[in-house]
Order: sequence, then structure tokens, then C-alpha cells
Amino acid sequence: MLHAKYIFVTGGVASSLGKGIISSSLAKLLQSRGFSVAIQKLDPYINVDPGTLNPYEHGECYVTEDGAETDLDLGHYERFSNVPTSQANNVTTGSIYQTVIEKERRGDYLGHTVQVIPHITDEIKRRIKLLGNSGKYDFVITEIGGTVGDIESLPYIETVRQMRWELGRSCAVIHLTLVPYLSAAGELKTKPTQHSVKTLLESGVQPDIIVCRTERPLNQGLKEKIALFCNVEPSSVIESRDAKTIYEVPLMMRDENLDTEVLRKTMMPIETSPDLVKWEEFLYKLNNPVDEVNIGLVGKYVELKDAYKSINESFIHASAANECRAVVKLIHSEHLNASNADEKLKGLHGILVAPGFGQRGIEGKIEAIRFTRENKIPFLGICLGMQCAVIEFARNILGYKSAHSTEMNADTKYPVIDLMEEQKKIKGMGGTMRLGTYPCKLKKGTKVYDIYDTLNISERHRHRYEFNNEYLEEYENAGMIAAGINTKDNLVEIIEIKGHPWFIGVQFHPEYKSTVAHPHPLFVDFVRAAQVYKDSKKGNLNRKSKVTKES
Ligand code: GLN
Repeated sequence: MLHAKYIFVTGGVASSLGKGIISSSLAKLLQSRGFSVAIQKLDPYINVDPGTLNPYEHGECYVTEDGAETDLDLGHYERFSNVPTSQANNVTTGSIYQTVIEKERRGDYLGHTVQVIPHITDEIKRRIKLLGNSGKYDFVITEIGGTVGDIESLPYIETVRQMRWELGRSCAVIHLTLVPYLSAAGELKTKPTQHSVKTLLESGVQPDIIVCRTERPLNQGLKEKIALFCNVEPSSVIESRDAKTIYEVPLMMRDENLDTEVLRKTMMPIETSPDLVKWEEFLYKLNNPVDEVNIGLVGKYVELKDAYKSINESFIHASAANECRAVVKLIHSEHLNASNADEKLKGLHGILVAPGFGQRGIEGKIEAIRFTRENKIPFLGICLGMQCAVIEFARNILGYKSAHSTEMNADTKYPVIDLMEEQKKIKGMGGTMRLGTYPCKLKKGTKVYDIYDTLNISERHRHRYEFNNEYLEEYENAGMIAAGINTKDNLVEIIEIKGHPWFIGVQFHPEYKSTVAHPHPLFVDFVRAAQVYKDSKKGNLNRKSKVTKES
């Protein structure tokens, strides 16, 4: 049974400084020294989970194995550490209050007044310690969302104060700030960092380590100045320069000794050095591609950098695996139609149609799929993307012109995508989808069977609607086959088109499971298939993807 050390990561000066990446990088470094690490995110908003937030509010919603709808930072944690997260790794103010209010209604507080301190802070503490008390981790890294000084972050900062007091050297606080460069003065400025640490001190928390985001190098003099004003050792002032890719940050943090500072502060042995050989190999391949393909990502949130985060990161992992840069071009599905598809999709070597909800942009997605099917361009449809492929096939091959999903048209004559029976009874929105990991059995002789190289897989889901089995026979007779099935509930999880070099639609989200250590096989082979397609356009037919070798 391990006695966990608790590391808190707070942020100051501005949001979006990259607490998630710093936390993930620290986890990677500690892990590569042989320690076991869990990372957790505490979010100060009142939603019970981010599942009900639209991507404009909060970027992508990341889904864990156990079906929790979580903050996208958990995706970074998994991609860096290769350790699956769970419900326990994401806590929101809404979920804390929900628990406390339920206890109050049950009478658990025995008539006492229920207050932020101690009841809310106790519940926050309980959620943090859940991971530490599991006995599985040497370190629990807890990232506090928001910025110090925010009204809504106060109960979390107060919890950090209490835990520091209780745990002493078993606890350390890392504060991430911004050191801006003022071009008019030609200088980096430390004042915002000083103020931000003062704000933290007002809540009774002295940071042990200060990580400074900066565009330019911090010289020793600046580090000493920050150390002096903020009561930390100069070696505990860590520079975090803007990086070309987030995957360089663990190496930058290693060079700045973030991990050794954490080990020193928490009285842990510094006997090993981080083994990052595999990580460096990955970075080398990523930075030195020998080929390049253009991938179109057709979706309706093209103006939002974070809406398709896990898909973009999966392409980065697959790029390194193939030593081929996949350049992902976002294509707005709302602006795509039969008359401009040629123009908008030209020059692409592979097309991915994105997951999503609702009517907006749906016809453009269907049009993009018609284009890839007819032109034999590699296609990957994820969740709604797969459903659109099913609709497109019904309309243009089976001849059911008005076929649709009942999500978009409840009265369609041909409901080829429909609600599952048990979903029909559900009224509420939060956490009511088919969520988390489900097993899927692949059919021998299919492309996906070759790609996964196994018969049984499990993948993560987040949807309500399903392929309507009443039409399955017609589809299979016409060439669209069910290549993967959930045998327990008899649900079609994967479709393929026979005779097309690479046309795969998946009802699940492979992007949630792609990590640096294990790039997802579907993305890896999709990029490979895009290379094959690109070569074939140039008359070179030698390269083969795992599955195009037979086609
Ligand atoms: N809107 C679709 C459904 O609920 C697809 C969801 C998704 O793409 N994640 O089934």
C-alpha cells in the first residue's frame, strides 16, 4: 500500500497557460522514474459534469472508460501517461454541491448548518483523497481549474491550504504564472507573478514551486528576483517556454528539473533518472516526417481549436507512427454542398467526418461522404460521422431519398438511425447517453479485423442513436457490412463498404484511446491509407496500408 504524496497545481495571472500540460508533463516525468501517478482535475463551475456543455463553452467533452463525461485535460493526462482515468479524476463544483445537498436532504448532518467550510471543503478533500487512499499511487497531482482570485475557486484553494497544513511535506504546491514580454520596454515583467503569488498568500497558500510561462528565456537574475519576492528557492523557479508541440514540454520540464524539485520538496528519493527514450523516439519521428498527407476533418466547429482535440492529437500520434505528417484541414460542413464538394475537398488524401449532435451542418457531412465513397478516398466516420455514412448509403445506394436519423427528423419514412428502446424512456440530458466502454466483436475477413489484429475489442461511446437493424440485411446485400457488433445488445458498432479501398464508420470514439505510447490502430492505418491514396494519384502503387493490400 503506497502513501501518496499530493501535488497541487494552481494557476495565476491568466487562464489558458497550460496547467493541464504542465501536470501531464510532471506525471510523465515521475512515471518515467518508476513512480505511479494519478492526475485529477477540479473544475470550479456548477455543471455537474461537462457533458451538458456545448463545445463553444468548454471545448471537447472527454469520455473515460467508466463513462464519465469529463474535461478535455483528462485526455492530455491519458495521452501523456497512458493510464486510463475515471469518474474520480474529474470533480466539479456542481458534483460537490450535489453530494453535499443529497447528504443534507438525507439528514446526514444531524441538524447542523451546512456551510462551505467545513462541509464543502471536506467533500473536496474526500474526492482528492479517494485517489490517494486507493493505495495505488505514489503521487496524486491535482489541477485546480480557473485562476487564483476567482470567487468560484476559493473553496478549492482553501482545501489546498487545509491539506498542506495536515500533510506537511507529503504535499507540494506548484503555481503556474505568466511572465509577459513588454516589447515597448524590451523586458520580461515579473510583477504579475508577484501579484498572483500575493493573491495565493492571501488565501494562506505559499507555493513551493513557481512555473513561469514565457515567450523568452528567463535569465538567472529574473529567477532570483521572482524567488526573492515570492519566498521560494531560485531552483524552484521553473521556466516554461512556448513549445512547438505540447509533447516537447516533458523534456523541457526535465531540463528545468521540475521533477527533481517536486521529489526534493516531498522528501522522495532521487535515485533514478527519467527514462524517456521512447518519448524521444516519438518526438524525433514527429519532427522529422518523410512524407505528408492532407486530411479533411469535416465538422461544424471549425472555428474552435479545442472542439476536436482528441481527434487532432490522435492524428499526431498516427503521424509519428507513420513518419508522415498528417496535415488536418478543418472543413465547415455547413458550407459544403453537392455543387462545391469537388472544390472544397480537392487535394485531400483522406476525409474524416466528425462526431456531433443536432441538425446543423448535417447535409454537408452527408455530401462529403458521398464524395469520398464515389471517389474512393479513404474515409473514417466517427459516431455521427458513421451515422451520416449510413444515411448517405440509404439515400444514394438503397434509393431511400428521405432516409435520415430520427435525431434530425423524427418522422422520417426511413429511420435508418434510430433511438435504442431503453433510450426512448429517458427524459433528462446529463449522463443519459450510452457512455463509456463497451465490447465489440469484429468479423473475420473485414478491414477492421486486419487493422486491430484481434477479434474482440473495447472502445468508448457517447451517443444515443444506433444503426437500425431492421435495415441491416438490405445494407449488407448492397455492400455496406456490419464489421463489428456488440453481441450482447446486437448493436452495429462498425460499418465498412466492400470494394472501397478504406471506408470505415465507427459508432464509438477511437480518439479517446489514442496515446503517445499506443497510437490508435484505426488512425495509424487511416493515415497509411491516405499515403497509399496519395501515391496512387502519382501512379505509385507500391505502398500498402494494412488493409489496402487486399483491395
Ligand atoms: N448525435 C448522435 C447520437 O447521439 C451522435 C453522437 C456523437 O457523435 N457523439 O447518437
